[in-house]
Amino acid sequence: MASQRDYYDILGVPRGASDADIKTAFRKLAQRWHPDVNTESGADERFKEINEAYQVLSDPQRRQAYDTFGRAGVGTGSEGFGPFGGFQGFGDLFDAFFGQGAPGASRRGQPPVGADLRYDLRLAFEESIRGVEKEIEFSALGRCDTCSGSGAQAGTSPTTCPGCGGSGEVRTVRSTMLGQMVNVAACPRCGGQGRIIEKPCTACRGDGRAERKRKLHVSIPAGIDEGHQVRLTGEGEAGLRGGPFGNLYVVAHVAAHPRLERRDTELYLELPISIAQATLGATVTIPTADGEETIEIKPGTQPGTEIRLRGRGVPHLRRAGARGDLHVLVDVIVPTKLTKRQRELLAEFAAEAGEAVNGRGEKGLFDKVKDAIS
Ligand SMILES: [Zn+2]
Ligand SMILES: [Zn+2]
Repeated sequence: MASQRDYYDILGVPRGASDADIKTAFRKLAQRWHPDVNTESGADERFKEINEAYQVLSDPQRRQAYDTFGRAGVGTGSEGFGPFGGFQGFGDLFDAFFGQGAPGASRRGQPPVGADLRYDLRLAFEESIRGVEKEIEFSALGRCDTCSGSGAQAGTSPTTCPGCGGSGEVRTVRSTMLGQMVNVAACPRCGGQGRIIEKPCTACRGDGRAERKRKLHVSIPAGIDEGHQVRLTGEGEAGLRGGPFGNLYVVAHVAAHPRLERRDTELYLELPISIAQATLGATVTIPTADGEETIEIKPGTQPGTEIRLRGRGVPHLRRAGARGDLHVLVDVIVPTKLTKRQRELLAEFAAEAGEAVNGRGEKGLFDKVKDAIS
């Protein structure tokens, strides 16, 4: 059961929050609660909730519907997005439905639009940077082959409803003290469909739909990030009795890189180097989004120095050819374990500079204390 908490509360943003604020809040929470990362019990429940809130608040139309009508307006109710599952499995999770076409729009006289579907797609970090072509497979309601979606038995076809003449609506006019009141309601005879099936198709029992396996090709653009969606128009669930298909939303879940950290289009790498490397300069190998690479550490590099590799970050989704930067943050590590020889050399180095240090190759105070206790 999805929770009934307010979507703004879930994301921790005020009602008037900008799209950018909503996105930032979502990214932070999603990173923290993603069940791949967070093994606390209830993490995937929490992640699901965060995701659900974001789906609605990041879409201007659905957000407006939510602001006006609450959850009823976005058609998620208590079931909504369906279970996210346990995330234990490997493959991708095919989830559930959200929304029933356009919220609240009952297209009378026409077959209803099929539900939108959502597919959660796992991506490797490198795939999210470079973009990738993926094949996805799932089963969903498609058209019934036997009746081609009409819902009527072979050799018959749906007939126009005599109750409403095919409009799906019945109007009643009442005279009241305030004048004439026109009441428009769904036709009870055809349920608002405008058509009646006298002999339903035996294969689908008049539904016009059948569960079938689908294989689709999805182009994931370079630079896609956690939680981004790719919409495949008309690849959702088939509508009842020949109604149009809903959309399929492929939601990206990007695996973390062991060393690179992403913030929008920027990548950050913490690079530990030794005192000698920082002092004398060195050529070191670093991971980048495009594989390993060597960079130069200049002699005299200070702790906290940032080496910026321009254009080596993440591609901009909307600006072809543009990429963010890779920020290499240098961390100079002070050694805690030295060989005898290293100790001697360092002591000599200190003597050369006229600095007072513990012992020339002798044991330092700390070691003496340690020896005394053991
Ligand atoms: Zn059928
Ligand atoms: Zn009717």
